[in-house]
Amino acid sequence: MIVKMHKKATQQDYEHLIKALEAKKFKIRDVSSDTVKIFGVIGDTASLDIHDVKAYEGVEQVIRVQSPFKQASRTFKEEDTIITINKDLMIGGNHPVMIAGPCSVESEAQLDLTAKFLSEQGVKVLRGGAFKPRTSPYTFQGLEVEGLKIMRRVADKYGMSVISEIPSAEHLEVFNTYTDIIQVGARNMQNFDLLKALGKAKRPIMLKRGLSATIEEWLMSAEYIIHHGNAEVILAERGIRTFETYTRNTLDISSVLAVKHLSHLPIIIDPSHAAGRWHMIEDLSKAALAVGAHGLMVEVHHNPETALSDGAQSLKFDTFESMMTQLHHLSNALNRPLK
Ligand code: PEP
Ligand code: MN
Repeated sequence: MIVKMHKKATQQDYEHLIKALEAKKFKIRDVSSDTVKIFGVIGDTASLDIHDVKAYEGVEQVIRVQSPFKQASRTFKEEDTIITINKDLMIGGNHPVMIAGPCSVESEAQLDLTAKFLSEQGVKVLRGGAFKPRTSPYTFQGLEVEGLKIMRRVADKYGMSVISEIPSAEHLEVFNTYTDIIQVGARNMQNFDLLKALGKAKRPIMLKRGLSATIEEWLMSAEYIIHHGNAEVILAERGIRTFETYTRNTLDISSVLAVKHLSHLPIIIDPSHAAGRWHMIEDLSKAALAVGAHGLMVEVHHNPETALSDGAQSLKFDTFESMMTQLHHLSNALNRPLK
């Protein structure tokens, strides 16, 4: 960490700051030039909050050179993390993975129809919301535990794995029982109690990027889960809030490159919640594969017009099928065949 002092800072300010940092076991190097007073802070500065250092009298600027996330960082672990799901599916390697299913589990018949179709398309991971984090309390809230049980039964029938969103820490046991991957929704990305609890989960975690989260905040949330005991974290970019209203969110495609540079964790793209419009899903999925995402998560519904949530962004079966043909061509050409 580099601390640049203000021109008007006094010798007393320097000494006060140095004393405080040395008391926290950091080593201080004076790297000043003729005109500016600069201190280098050496040690495990991940534990230092940049704003706390800025609060000292005479400090003008503080620059981090070491990332505040440690275990999630590429410096900590150079090689890519590959997460194995149900012994045979790997997320994070050279084969991007397709995760698909309805926004919400609506009934056993609906999910059975969808899973049958998706498994015939080669999809190995079934998504579906059982606890739905809806903006309005008056809209469909999900089938809750019954929805998870339906997912498990249907996924087992078609040899698929289950991913579903956990609403809070108290549901951990039930998610350990019925799911294969536990999803943390965008709205819960900084629910630190939940993240801590997921450190004890027996399942890999898919951590969605918060609506207005920076990449650093997102990786810090991953750090919470790893620090509390669970190193199996998959990141999911699902679009962020910008001034644009045409799309539901703005897909930050460059976050894949940033995350792959900063971290060893796998990253997938959810174009459905990013765009909010079904006609954009195929091309955004192609972009996701081209930029090197480790997978995709796409919403599919047998009849989007009657879907209980997110119909406008859900693909019909025939559109999904033709998209898969295109994605296989592209992923083969990229030498990263889709699984
Ligand atoms: C979802 O995937 O079902 C969902 C609610 O997404 P997000 O948390 O990204 O809004
Ligand atoms: Mn949805």
